[in-house]
Amino acid sequence: MTHDELRRIARRLTPAVACLLGLSACATNPVTGERELALMSEAQEIEIGRSLDVEVRREMGVYDDDALQAYIDDMGQRLARNSHRPDLDWHFAVVDVPAINAFALPGGYLYMTRGILAYLDSEAQVAGVLGHEIGHVTARHAVQQYSRATGASLGLLLGGIFVPQVRPFGSLAETGLGVLFLRYGRDDELQSDRLGAEYAAASGWDPAAVPEFLATLGRVEELSDRRGVPNWASTHPPAEDRVERGLATVAELKAARPGASWAVNRDEHLRRIDGMVFGDNPREGIVRGRRFLHPDLRFEIEFPDGWDVSNGKEQVVAKMPGQEAYVLLQLVEQPRGRTMTEIAAANMQGAGFRESSGGATTINGLDAYLGVYQGRLGDLGAVTMRAAHIRQDRTVFFVAGFAQPEPYAQLEPSLSASVRSFRSLSREEAENVKPNRLALYTSRQGDTWQSIAERQSGGLVRPTTLAIMNDHAVNDQPRAGERLKIVVAE
Ligand SMILES: [Zn+2]
Repeated sequence: MTHDELRRIARRLTPAVACLLGLSACATNPVTGERELALMSEAQEIEIGRSLDVEVRREMGVYDDDALQAYIDDMGQRLARNSHRPDLDWHFAVVDVPAINAFALPGGYLYMTRGILAYLDSEAQVAGVLGHEIGHVTARHAVQQYSRATGASLGLLLGGIFVPQVRPFGSLAETGLGVLFLRYGRDDELQSDRLGAEYAAASGWDPAAVPEFLATLGRVEELSDRRGVPNWASTHPPAEDRVERGLATVAELKAARPGASWAVNRDEHLRRIDGMVFGDNPREGIVRGRRFLHPDLRFEIEFPDGWDVSNGKEQVVAKMPGQEAYVLLQLVEQPRGRTMTEIAAANMQGAGFRESSGGATTINGLDAYLGVYQGRLGDLGAVTMRAAHIRQDRTVFFVAGFAQPEPYAQLEPSLSASVRSFRSLSREEAENVKPNRLALYTSRQGDTWQSIAERQSGGLVRPTTLAIMNDHAVNDQPRAGERLKIVVAE
C-alpha cells in the first residue's frame, strides 16, 4: 500500500485506531486520559495562543489597573495549578471590553472582560468562570474547535482574523473578533462547567458559585437586546439545565469533602472592582443616551431615539429595534481625492454604490459631501442610503443612514437628521467626557432597583441591570443593609 492509500484509510478510521497505527499526530487528552486525534501538537497549540494573544491585546486593550490584573492572574494561576495541566505556562488578563465575556485561546491564554467582572458577585464566582475557561483549555476544546473550524487553512485564517480591512459595508454583525468566540459544543460546555467547579473546589473556593453565575448569565440572556455584540450568552448554550447540572456537581463535590470550609469572598471582590470603568471607555468613544461622543477624535453624533447603539473597533452602528435600518459611522482610511466631492465619489464607487443625488455642502461648519445612493449590502440586498463624507482637520468621516428602499422612504427624515447631526467637540467638551464607573452602595429600608437606578445611579443604568449585577432575579428587591454595586458618573 502506498503512503497515500494508508492515509486515505486512516482518515476513515476512528481517531483512536489511527493513533494506534501511528498514522496521525495524536495526543493524550489531559482530562480524559484518552488518546485522540489532534491536528496540532502542544507546541503548535501554544504558538497559536501566543500569536493570537498579541492580537487580542492590541484589538481589545488590556484594562489599565495593575492591581486588578495581578489579582486575577494570581487567582488564575492558583486554579491552573489545581487543573489537569498544571505545567502549562498560563496567562490571564482583564481586557478593556464592556461586553460580558470570558474566553480562552489554545495554549493557556485566558481573558475576562471588565464587563463580566462587573456582573460577577464574589471571588468564588470569578474563580468559577476562570475555572470554566481553564477547562476549555485542559480538555483541549479550544484546540479541537480551532482544528475543526480551520482544518488545513488554519494558517490562512489566523492570518486573516485581525488583518485590518477596508470593509465599508461588511456584514454588520460580523466583527473581527467574532472568530475568537467560537461556539463549543454543548457537551464541551457541560464538561467545562464541571471542570470549573472542580478546579474552584480544589483551590478552596465555593463551587456553588458556578450555578450562581450561570443563573446570572441566564438572566442576562433573557434580557439581552441582541446588539450583535458577541457575549457569553450568545456563544453558550441556554443556562437553565446547566444550572441544574451545576447544582448536582456542587452537591457531589461537597459530599466528597464533608466539613470543609469554602471561600466565597464577596467583599474582597467588591473592593477589587470598586471604581472600575463600566460600559464604554471614552478612549473608544462612549454612548450617552442617543448621543455617541468620541473625545479623542473630537466629534459627536446623535442617533435616532430608542435605537440600539453598538460601538465596535472599526465602526459605530445604530440599529432600529426590530427593523433592518441602520446608521453607521466610520473613518475613511486613505481617502482618495482632494475635494470632498472627489473623495465621496471614489469611496462610494469603490463600494459599488450609485449616486442618485448629492452635492458639496457643510455640516455644522465642516466641509462635507452629502448624497443619496443605491446599492447592495450583504444580507440586506438592495438598499437606499443617505451618506455624508465629512472632513474634520485631516480626518474624513463616513456617516450613512440606510435601509431597504421601502422602509427607507418612511425613515428618511430620521436617518437624514442623524447623518446631519455630526459635529466637532470643543477641547473643553472633549475633556468633560468621562466614563461611568462602578461604586458601592449600602441599600436602605424601602430602596428598590428602580429608586437606586434613579437616585444613586442618576439614571445611568437600568433597574434590571442593577438587579442582575447584584445576583438577584429581576423581580426581587434588594434587602436593607445589602452592599450593592451601582453605576455612577465619574
Ligand atoms: Zn464555555
